[in-house]
Amino acid sequence: MTTQEKERDDHFNRCVEFHGHRCPGLAIGFQAARALMDRLGATRAPDEELVAIVETDACGADAIQVMTGCTFGKGNFIFRNYGKHAFALADRKTGRTVRACLRLDAMELSPQKRTLIEKIRNGTASSEELEQYRNLKEKRIQEILETPFESLFKIEEISLPIPPEAQIVESKVCGFCGELAKVDLLQPVAGRMSCVPCRLARHEP
Ligand SMILES: [Zn+2]
Ligand SMILES: [Zn+2]
Repeated sequence: MTTQEKERDDHFNRCVEFHGHRCPGLAIGFQAARALMDRLGATRAPDEELVAIVETDACGADAIQVMTGCTFGKGNFIFRNYGKHAFALADRKTGRTVRACLRLDAMELSPQKRTLIEKIRNGTASSEELEQYRNLKEKRIQEILETPFESLFKIEEISLPIPPEAQIVESKVCGFCGELAKVDLLQPVAGRMSCVPCRLARHEP
């Protein structure tokens, strides 16, 4: 194993630790993060230097957080619910944004794997078949980790306004539930300030 392969595996293992299990989806997000950082010439963001925009909430999104340092809590990890295996990364310093979208043929399932998944779903898979499935899955992970970025993804620069850095916003008390909420999310309802869930409970917008 070369030093680069060892380094790659160490990084992937960090993603597995965060995500909780090894899966092909995580490997795809991992490769996307590496491809995007490579294209931008960027390193992991300790603060808000980078912004990630993910178009899926599937497994891969976790690898994006670990690898890029863009996290949900820092406000530089943006989820767009488009259901696409696509990930973008913006660099605040240069203003550049690169997007990677998984290629069509990269998602194909072999007929053998399809049959196994079917059997696992309806609970008829034998222990050998479960083992076979695990092996195929591991093989698929290795395959993804070893495929060049350009074969896995369509990678292109896009123009996208980079969202501003997170602001500290004052909180005020909701006049209905008595809990603190950010002022920009409070709205007047029947003469009192109301938080989002209290408005929803009253069927107000
Ligand atoms: Zn997963
Ligand atoms: Zn409330």
